[in-house]
Amino acid sequence: MKYLSAVFSISLILTSLNGTSPAMSKNNNYTLVIHGGAGTILKKDMTDQKEKEYREILNKALMAGNQVLKNDGTSLDAVVATIKVMEDSPLFNAGKGAVFTHEETNELDASIMDGKNLKAGAVAGVKTVKNPITAARVVMDKSPHVMMTGKGADEYAKSQGVEIVDPSYFYTENRFQQLKKIQESEKVELDHSSKVKIKKSDNNLYDKKFGTVGAVAVDKYGNLAAGTSTGGMTNKRFGRVGDSPIIGAGTYANNNTCAVSATGHGEFFIRSVVSYDISALMEYKGLSLDKAAEYVVNKKLVKIGGEGGVVAVDRKGNIAMKFNSEGMYRGYVRDDSKPHVFIYKD
Ligand code: ASP
Repeated sequence: MKYLSAVFSISLILTSLNGTSPAMSKNNNYTLVIHGGAGTILKKDMTDQKEKEYREILNKALMAGNQVLKNDGTSLDAVVATIKVMEDSPLFNAGKGAVFTHEETNELDASIMDGKNLKAGAVAGVKTVKNPITAARVVMDKSPHVMMTGKGADEYAKSQGVEIVDPSYFYTENRFQQLKKIQESEKVELDHSSKVKIKKSDNNLYDKKFGTVGAVAVDKYGNLAAGTSTGGMTNKRFGRVGDSPIIGAGTYANNNTCAVSATGHGEFFIRSVVSYDISALMEYKGLSLDKAAEYVVNKKLVKIGGEGGVVAVDRKGNIAMKFNSEGMYRGYVRDDSKPHVFIYKD
């Protein structure tokens, strides 16, 4: 008996050391939470028609993931199915509808993580992958690497049968006009230390980048997964990459704690290692998901001026949808298959 409990304790220790977690027996509970970006989203600036369109696509994305989870699918498959719907919609800054770079191209970033074994995959700066989240998935599933960038990432995705499109596929008039407007009113200059100076009057331009998409889920087996996809920031240059494809910053999943997907001003999210920080507060300090997410989004990020938010779920299906901006497109669905969608601080 003593021997058995020693073996059990050792296997628990090994489990937490290598980051994998014991499979839970199947039950009928699952939860999926999504975001479609955070920023200055105010009711007074929204038309009824636009709001309806956003709500429709958020519902559609939730139902795509719900379908997978309901049919005993994995949280990873649900995250991919959900994000693909939002990537295919021009309403979001991911896939079709991605923002433009300074050079008038679209450079897309995405990442995914499996909470069961801490495997992860990411791509940054791809230009031809129709659904960047599927490229992140093949990096995780089929390569020995975690992150691929630029041309190499495009080539690898193609070699693995991921759907490739002409870069013109990503063109949307709305995003192009946004770039032009920003460039016209640009008062950004590089000083000698290469720090970007932005005058106060440009603050509202920051909001033009928001619209990143993400999903987190726990499936019927108790396994967690997280994914995030974005076009980054309008007018980005010099190969700028934000937090979205960075594991621990924009995306993180660990069965022992939670799955997180972030959206917001990437530089601050990288510096705060937002997604991992939420997980670490749960793991090392024993905080609940709600408390950990609240602390990171509304205390730590606010303190350094990082605007945005996260969606997160834990193994028990507790959810957090926290943001420190005016609004965040977001929603969740549980095993009753009823989607709930929110936009403003309501
Ligand atoms: N986090 C993204 C980036 O900085 C942008 C966003 O979420 O809106 O690239």
